[in-house]
Amino acid sequence: MHHFAYRGGVLHAEDVSVDAIASKVGTPFYCYSTATLTRHYKVFAEAFANADALVCYSIKANSNLAVLKTLGNLGSGMDVVSEGELRRARAAGVAPEKIVFSGVGKTRDEMAYALSEGIYAFNVESEAELAVLNEVAGQAGVRARVAFRVNPDIDPKTHKKISTGKAEDKFGVPYERARGLYREAAEMAGVTPSGIHMHIGSQITDLKPFSDAFALLRELAGQLKEDGCDLEFINFGGGLGVPYRGNNDIPPHPDEYAAIVLAAAKDLKVKLLFEPGRMIAANAGILVTRVLYTKTGAAQSFTIVDAAMNDLIRPTLYEAWHDIIPVDERLVDTPGQITDVVGPVCETGDYLALARKLPEYSSGDLMAVLTAGAYGAAQSSSYNTRLLIPEVLVKDDQYALIRPRPTYDDLLGRDKVPDWL
Ligand SMILES: *Cc1c(COP(=O)(O)O)cnc(C)c1O
Repeated sequence: MHHFAYRGGVLHAEDVSVDAIASKVGTPFYCYSTATLTRHYKVFAEAFANADALVCYSIKANSNLAVLKTLGNLGSGMDVVSEGELRRARAAGVAPEKIVFSGVGKTRDEMAYALSEGIYAFNVESEAELAVLNEVAGQAGVRARVAFRVNPDIDPKTHKKISTGKAEDKFGVPYERARGLYREAAEMAGVTPSGIHMHIGSQITDLKPFSDAFALLRELAGQLKEDGCDLEFINFGGGLGVPYRGNNDIPPHPDEYAAIVLAAAKDLKVKLLFEPGRMIAANAGILVTRVLYTKTGAAQSFTIVDAAMNDLIRPTLYEAWHDIIPVDERLVDTPGQITDVVGPVCETGDYLALARKLPEYSSGDLMAVLTAGAYGAAQSSSYNTRLLIPEVLVKDDQYALIRPRPTYDDLLGRDKVPDWL
């Protein structure tokens, strides 16, 4: 559920007209809804209200400081994958003891910084990383709390570029080797093995891969306890899917997901950690773009808009579907046609939708690309020397520019021309 709906014939974000925002900030732009972010966080957190649980929002889905602060104020912890994200979490006021650090390639500097901040735990993804973390913590005179990210070799039945828990994926340590690694870690002076971590992929809409994976977590937890490991937490990762396509792909409700988690964790007496990203942010954001031109090619109709793959790369990168609706409700029932929605970037792969049945848009009309709050702005770039687009956050009848559009001077000023030129 989200808070974008027509009122008086115009698409609104909560109580604010999207058309009015477009007139003020220009297009294209991302628009986020506070009520939707809040609702998603609460639905997830409340599914675990009776457990000792910590929700660590996965920052990479949408890392705007205002979004982080909105979630942090609700009590959310954060899952970070770089020093930059850790700095964002801290800048948003999130307490270090609510932060976990994931990623296959943490550098020594990143580890040292995270240790100095006193984060809750590191999700360790290899034996080599464990050795380095042990060393860095030793030099700092502290112990790092670690959870091995266990790769269960389970197919999450999602797009191949967002599967992370199969044997051939780069993530984690093989399930069969995990027990041995905990024994190894227990002998080290710079680390305390205190949790288990798993994250098998993203946009998962089937509960079966989760329940298979969580059964392995339970088995490993039992083995570790036998080995005398003082297991403090299990981190179930993120990955819960969202409906991108009307009512066609309804993901499991967090309560159904919670039932599986709680069954897997039953009687283990551990704290439960989660790293939802998409599930919190996706439906809380739209991308608003204006139609520049329409044209009919020899074989195809094109609707050319001012947003492009550098602003939202999901259709290109993951063959992802995003529903697209007009901001002006009167267009909804116009006859329309099948068209490709494409941007100005010079790439054939630059599209927001292919062969899509859409209403009759003309030059100047506004479109809203739905479910764009996660992995939208966060993955944007200035390819083709296009300016990063603004982000707007709505709350009830107010809105704020939470990332202004840069100027061309800002963009060009990042380059430095050497003296010899
Ligand atoms: C990306 C990521 C997540 C979030 O995944 P979603 O599908 O957005 O919920 C969680 N944990 C880790 C380690 C990740 O890399």
